[in-house]
Amino acid sequence: MKYTWRIVGHEKLVQGLENNITSGNIAHAYLFAGPEKVGKFTVAKTFAHILQCENSFCHTCQTCLQIEKNAHPDTIVFRDNGESIKIDEIRALINRLNLSAPSKYKVVIAENIERMPDEAGNCLLKTLEEPPPNTIFLFTTLFLKSIMPTILSRVRVLKFHHCPEDVLVKHLTNMYPETDAATIEQISKFALGKPGVAFDLINDPQLASNYKTLYTDLQRFLDYESIFDRFLYIKEAENDPRKIADILDILTHIIRTRMVTGAPYRKPYVEILEKIDYTNYLLKHNINPKLALENLMLNI
Ligand SMILES: [Zn+2]
Repeated sequence: MKYTWRIVGHEKLVQGLENNITSGNIAHAYLFAGPEKVGKFTVAKTFAHILQCENSFCHTCQTCLQIEKNAHPDTIVFRDNGESIKIDEIRALINRLNLSAPSKYKVVIAENIERMPDEAGNCLLKTLEEPPPNTIFLFTTLFLKSIMPTILSRVRVLKFHHCPEDVLVKHLTNMYPETDAATIEQISKFALGKPGVAFDLINDPQLASNYKTLYTDLQRFLDYESIFDRFLYIKEAENDPRKIADILDILTHIIRTRMVTGAPYRKPYVEILEKIDYTNYLLKHNINPKLALENLMLNI
């Protein structure tokens, strides 16, 4: 590959993006779809760098430095701040795109566009149908299924996947030679195929220790028969979105592991995984976390 993408895995996908540049086949809009913390935003940002920099993503020119700090006037970034993307923000964006600019491109990076209500989506759609010249949209989403079909038909979709555990182990071993093999293996297990989680865990021993406790607790918790016990367990997590996300991730991992080893359980594992996915979907759509979790607890 010509450029440094700073992600784990996804070689084919980023090679495809590089080929788009060299062959001049750059789409007006891309949608990077896949789970959290697997590198979608990093790829979007790097792609913006490569497109905008006059010196092949040199890391040192003013453009590169500005993009790095999210201060480049023609590289507009919408990070997921937990709120929906409002129609006024889309209108302001469209006005901004119609102004002339000195840069090579106008690049819009918008994270998790499933946060966009239909009204804002329809407003954006008009611009996607007739984009201003040299404008490139780089969208990400956690839930491809929740994107309006009219938007889907106007973007080039690239799917991101979880990173295999052995690939992650190899990568972390190279990156952190001073960390012992047992720690790297455990962190790779807890990361559940999400390199971003692995980096968080390796740089924060307290977080790693919390994960370990949660993992052990949830193993035990799955064997609780009493709904009362389950409700009690989730009560302390219901106001902590980070902990809820960790619980759902670790539950998924435990269920998948039990499925592979053929351990007996009172409900079909596939059904439980679907319920967990659906709970994730509900939580991203601002459903009351207590209700969503209690509903899950009743059904697994
Ligand atoms: Zn540069």
